[in-house]
Amino acid sequence: MKKQAIVIGAGIAGLASARTLALKGYKVQVIERSNKAVGASIRNFGMVWPVGQPEGDWYETAMRSRSIWKELCTEAGIWYDAVGSLHMAYAPDEWQVLQEFAAGTDPSRGCEVLTPAQTTAKSGAVITHQLQGALYSPDELIIDSRKAIAEIPAWLEAKHGVEFTWGRAVTSIQYPRVQLGNETLEADLVVVCGGADFESLYPEAYASAPLTKCKLQMMRMAGQPDNWRIGPALCGSLSLIHYKGFGSAPSLPLLQKRYETEYAEYLKWGIHVMVAQNESGELTIGDSHEYGNTHDPFDKQAINQLILDYLRQFARFKNEQLIQTWNGIYPKLTNGESFLTLKPEEGVLIFNGLGGAGMTLSFGLSEKIMNAF
Ligand SMILES: Cc1cc2nc3c(=O)[nH]c(=O)nc-3n(C[C@H](O)[C@H](O)[C@H](O)COP(=O)(O)OP(=O)(O)OC[C@H]3O[C@@H](n4cnc5c(N)ncnc54)[C@H](O)[C@@H]3O)c2cc1C
Repeated sequence: MKKQAIVIGAGIAGLASARTLALKGYKVQVIERSNKAVGASIRNFGMVWPVGQPEGDWYETAMRSRSIWKELCTEAGIWYDAVGSLHMAYAPDEWQVLQEFAAGTDPSRGCEVLTPAQTTAKSGAVITHQLQGALYSPDELIIDSRKAIAEIPAWLEAKHGVEFTWGRAVTSIQYPRVQLGNETLEADLVVVCGGADFESLYPEAYASAPLTKCKLQMMRMAGQPDNWRIGPALCGSLSLIHYKGFGSAPSLPLLQKRYETEYAEYLKWGIHVMVAQNESGELTIGDSHEYGNTHDPFDKQAINQLILDYLRQFARFKNEQLIQTWNGIYPKLTNGESFLTLKPEEGVLIFNGLGGAGMTLSFGLSEKIMNAF
């Protein structure tokens, strides 16, 4: 008889865990409190983003996730776009960082610095005024996360026999029992992937973990005329100080210092600006980062305006009509680590704290974690 696993939460961490456990031979049941996942996993850019990870283990884990995404999407008929990414430089110190980064990465990654002409050949959206050049990385993949997170459960059911229970919250766990209100389930292994809900299950375990919550503001522009595509996902240079991946560039601290003076308002709200295009041509634009355990639910128009102002420095689009704004919240570790596992009792694993890289890391990381558990 197969061992039973219960996974709580149908965001990307829960879906990745369900896949991994099914492959390990478990009969898996996923329990999601909403009728469909509506947490961080559907509110993001859908960027599978190896270039943001430090070279070595983290880059490799991101690349493992990327290959799982490609395989899964191909099998399940889910759209993805392996467009790569462009980081633009408009000042000599930004250009210096990009060049140092490219020189320091393993040549097999295919990262290269591009002249302005080469950059605009890759993307007609890039602004050429004062453009020094850009870094092109071929690894980045765009997923339409709203669709993908909704469609992966059917694939997990069909391919791996994973069972989904929607619209039921897990109210408590006392291993091996999992309580859904009055209903009691039992499992050999329970994996809790509850995202930003630290309050409902094992609040004491969460309270002692180095965790906070990060609120991000996002926007969407309409689809583009004549199926116009922007090519790679686009980033301005503020992203260089946001992602750990660029930490290898010796000149980065100098750039950070300049930004602290010249972009103080941007740094105050944790703003860096990126753009991804989905299947129907719409542009997902963000984002900001505010930290704290309780966030007010209202968005700040001033933050969205700062994001749009910065965007205008590096990209223009044929249709810039804003059609949506929203925010998302993810758990963020305060000790600099990239994920959190806790074992609040025998047979129970909490997998959380993926910060801004859950789409990038979950598939690869869940394999590493579950294989070691
Ligand atoms: C605006 C934004 C942009 C981002 N951009 C990117 C990006 O481009 N690339 C990237 O790699 N990462 C990105 N991220 C990060 C990524 O989205 C997160 O790391 C990831 O979605 C976290 O997944 P999760 O499954 O842990 O949480 P969630 O997606 O929040 O899922 C948790 C689920 O658990 C359920 N749940 C909680 N408690 C219970 C309970 N008691 N019973 C039943 N169900 C429960 C919730 O309903 C929810 O569906 C972004 C995040 C945000 C917010």
